Formats: sequence, C-alpha cells, structure tokens
Amino acid sequence: MAFPSDLEIARGAKLKPIEDIAADMGLPARLLEPYGRDVMKIGLGAVDELADAPKAKYVLVSAITPTPLGEGKTTTTVGLGQGFKHLGKRATVAVRQPSMGPTLGIKGGAAGGGYSQVVPMELLNLHLTGDMHAVTAAHNLLAAMVDNHLYQGNALGLDVESITWRRVLDMNDRALRNVVVGLGPKADGVTRQTGFDITAASEVMAALALTTGIEDLRARLGRIVVGYTRSGEPVTAEQLDTAGAMTVLLREAIKPNLMQTLENTPAIVHCGPFGNIATGNSSVVADLVGIRCGDYLITEAGFGADMGAERFFNIKCRVSGQAPDAAVLVATVRALKAHSGKFRIVAGKPLPEELLAENPDDVHAGAANLRKQIENIRMHGVSPVVAVNAFPTDHPSEHAAIREVAEAMGARVAVSTHFSDGGAGATELAEAVAEAAEEPSEFQLLYPSSAPLREKIETVATRVYGADGVTYSAAARKQLDTFERNGFGDLPVCMAKTHLSISSDPKLLGAPTGWTLPVREVRASVGAGFVYPICGDMRTMPGLGSSPAATRIDLDADGEIVGLS
Ligand code: ADP
Ligand code: MG
Repeated sequence: MAFPSDLEIARGAKLKPIEDIAADMGLPARLLEPYGRDVMKIGLGAVDELADAPKAKYVLVSAITPTPLGEGKTTTTVGLGQGFKHLGKRATVAVRQPSMGPTLGIKGGAAGGGYSQVVPMELLNLHLTGDMHAVTAAHNLLAAMVDNHLYQGNALGLDVESITWRRVLDMNDRALRNVVVGLGPKADGVTRQTGFDITAASEVMAALALTTGIEDLRARLGRIVVGYTRSGEPVTAEQLDTAGAMTVLLREAIKPNLMQTLENTPAIVHCGPFGNIATGNSSVVADLVGIRCGDYLITEAGFGADMGAERFFNIKCRVSGQAPDAAVLVATVRALKAHSGKFRIVAGKPLPEELLAENPDDVHAGAANLRKQIENIRMHGVSPVVAVNAFPTDHPSEHAAIREVAEAMGARVAVSTHFSDGGAGATELAEAVAEAAEEPSEFQLLYPSSAPLREKIETVATRVYGADGVTYSAAARKQLDTFERNGFGDLPVCMAKTHLSISSDPKLLGAPTGWTLPVREVRASVGAGFVYPICGDMRTMPGLGSSPAATRIDLDADGEIVGLS
C-alpha cells in the first residue's frame, strides 16, 4: 500500500480538545482565547503568570546546509516533541507560521510531514488566526503614511529617492517586485518607483518575532526607519506618528497560537520571518511562554546551522535572555550525498537513480558540511545531537556512515523514523537530546553587542562560514559608517546570504575554504533590531513556477480541501 499523503494522515488525526492541551501545559483558562474549534491564542499575561513554573530544557532544531531535497527540520521538531511523550516527558514544540505565498507556490504545506505534523494542517497553512494579514496591514499602513506625508507637503523633508519602506503581500507575485505608485492626476499622490515584498520579509514581521511584549513592540515599530532626509538623517515611523496605530493593528497578532501535533503534543505557532534577510525563527514571545509549560521546549530555526542557528543564538537569544540546553542537527543520507557534489539535483525533478543506490562512501564524501555545522553549534557552547532523519530509501550502512562521522566528532547521534512511525520512532533521538540537555549549559554569544559592526560581520564570516575574510563595496563601507554614526552600531548582524551554501556562493557545497565574503550593501532593520549586510542576490518577493501548487488545490464534493500536500 502506498504511504498516505500528509493531508490524508492529518485528516485521520484524533485531536484532543485544545482546552485540554492548554490545561496539560498549565495554562489557566482565563489566558486562552479560542479561535474556532482547534486553535487558541495565548494571552501575553502567561509570561508573568507562569514565571514561577519550572523551566523546560530549551532545545533548538537546526540542520546541515539545505539541499533542494528538504532535510526535514519541521518534521523532526514535531517528531521529537512527540518522542518525548513516549519517554513520559512533557514537551512543547514552537514553530513558525508558514507563509501562504510558498504554500500556494512551490512548497505545498509546511506543517511537518508523515506521522509528525501539526494539525489541523489546513488551518496552519492557510490564514490560521490572521496574524500574517495583520502584519501586512500594519506594514502597509506605514507605507500609506509615507506616501501621504509626501503628498501633504513632506514636512520632514524625506528624500524621495532614499525611501526604503516598500509594501508587502503574502503572495508569490513577481509582477509586484517593482511598481510605480502615484500615477495619474496630482490628487492621486506623488509618483515614485517602489515595490512589494512578501509579508514574511517585512520588518514588521521580524519585529513581532523578536519582541518581548506590547510596549517593547511599540518602541520597536517606532524605531523603524522608512528613509532619510536630504541631509542624511533617518526618518522613523515614530516621526510619522504611525507606531501607535501599527501596534493596535498587531495587538492580537502578538499573542502566540496554540495548536497540537498528530499525537497531541502542544504546538505553539507564531510568526514567520524570512530566513535570509531576517531571523527565520519563530517568536521570542512563544518561547517565553513555552519554556514554562513542560519538561522540554523544542523550536526550529530555518535553513542550515550557519544561518538559522547562528541567528537563533546571536539575535533571538540575545533578545530573550534564554540559553539553549541542546541543539539538534538534522541530516539525511540523501542530503549528505548531495553535498559530495557528485549529483545534479534539480528541485521538483525526480532524484537521480545513483543517489538512491546504497553507497556509504558518498555519504562520507559529503560529510564536511555536517562536521562544520557541528562545530558551529559547539562554538556557542551548546551540545549538538545529530538526528538522522530516516527515509524509506536509505540503507543501514548509510545511517552507520553518518553515525561514524558524528561520533568521530564526539557528538551524540540517533537515527529517527518519526516520519513513518510518529513519536515512537523518535525515542532514541529524544533520549540523546535529554542526555545532551543535562550537560551544564555553557551557552555564549559569538560577539558582544558593543563590538563595531565590521567586527561582528567578520566574526560570523570567518568563524561560522569559514571565510578567509570580508570585502566591502564602497557603498557598504559608507552605509556601515552611517549606521555607526546614527547609533545603530550596537545591533547584532543578520547576514543576508544564500542558504544553499555555507559560503556566499550557492554552488559551493560541503564546507568551502579559501574564499572571502563580499558585502555588497548593508541595510538596517532598526525596528526589528539588526543590521543586515547583503552578500549575494536576495529575493524578497518570490515568483510562481510553471506549475504552482495552487493549480492542484481545490475543494472536493464534501467541501474538503484537496491538493495541499
Ligand atoms: P524543513 O523544515 O527542513 O524545510 P520539512 O520538515 O518541512 O523540512 O520537510 C521537507 C519535506 O520533506 C516535507 O514535504 C516532508 O514531508 C518531507 N520529509 C521530511 N522528512 C521525511 C522523511 N523522513 N521521509 C519522507 N519525507 C520526508
Ligand atoms: Mg521547516
């Protein structure tokens, strides 16, 4: 019998009343706000009310450098959460809300997979409680205020050419990347070129993900820089008198959403910032709640450990003050083989036959990436656990090859079959994580906030990416000087580079050495709270492919969604 689709498995789930899930977490009913039958928002009062509850062990799920094959971080996060239940432990998982653009585009759903999913996956993948739309509205309010300010006479003296605040939409729509606004008669506004980004790439989303509470959010939104005056002074959302209204539009979105997994493990779903120009991590608020709700809090960071985990440590934990107790590095046989560079893999195309054939040597040939990512976790003082996310096409000798690589590095390792077996398949992994989390935490940030921006960039480039050094364009040098002068120098850095390589060249697999990181441009998300150097081409508005997932999504005769894989 063919393995059932994610949607079929999700439909068969026996959901527990969400009130019971909340009660198991120790969340008092008065803090809960039902959204339909299977989702609740958790009031922010939970952070203070639960402050005396015992603290969970805090576990990050990261991975080797992604390949077009998908390594299964979300699936492993969910599977591990379910696995702890089989050991008699209470775990909570915290994940991002999927962006609808990619769900309707190339990716399909992002709720995990197989027998390790967050349910109901239709809700998770589409709209959920409307947080994405609230972010869109708050972001676009500021855009409307900027254009109105120009129209009303531009009292702040904004240099039209310097305006960096664009508009956003949660849709993959390449036709909106560059637009001209204000066409038509004078009453229709000032004509200027701008564009749209996907909502996940909004600075408002990044600020919401990094905020610790509503007053802090108000302050962050106020600090957002929309552009500069002709004399180079930053112009902020506060100066445009818009931060208050933006906060009001986000007052529900700031509350984390409670759902559950197929095996009734609590799942907190909150925020979905982009992983290349923003943190790629779910929210600080979700973690501040979840860390008081059980024995383990397991959260996922996007892309490889050089990207998501580095941002988790140096941006998210810097803000939240929380220290991780262990980090899982998801690896797969097929992805390590892909890192050997021997195979040509094209997203959406069938895998090459030779890649699926038993060959532990190919796994070893791609192991440099895993070794470097183990190092990247360790340099933050955190114990790594390698999770071999097992696929039905793997061979035992190939799992053994990953074990050898991990053990030679002194890292714990476990093979996990949570995709096909649910939590029962993740008990070895859960045991290894529990052991790692018992080791005394020596978590450390890679650089102090007070270090100059160039030093921060160079630290991440040389230590995490393995670069020999960094080169800056003339524009980047000027921008860095401006930011230091404007008082943004204390912010952490969020390096915008490809996720497909530890280097800045997406074609370089494994763990490349002997290269320098080129910083082309530097931008500041002052409201979100980081500076982001751009090292390569960054797309902030995806397009649709030749056969978008949307073409397969529909309602059947019973009104059930079909085609959402
Ligand atoms: P990530 O979070 O790393 O992007 P996901 O967990 O979303 O990865 O998984 C990517 C895709 O791979 C999903 O479609 C998921 O169902 C599939 N997948 C993950 N693990 C397995 C596995 N062990 N066997 C088969 N398919 C898997
Ligand atoms: Mg994921």
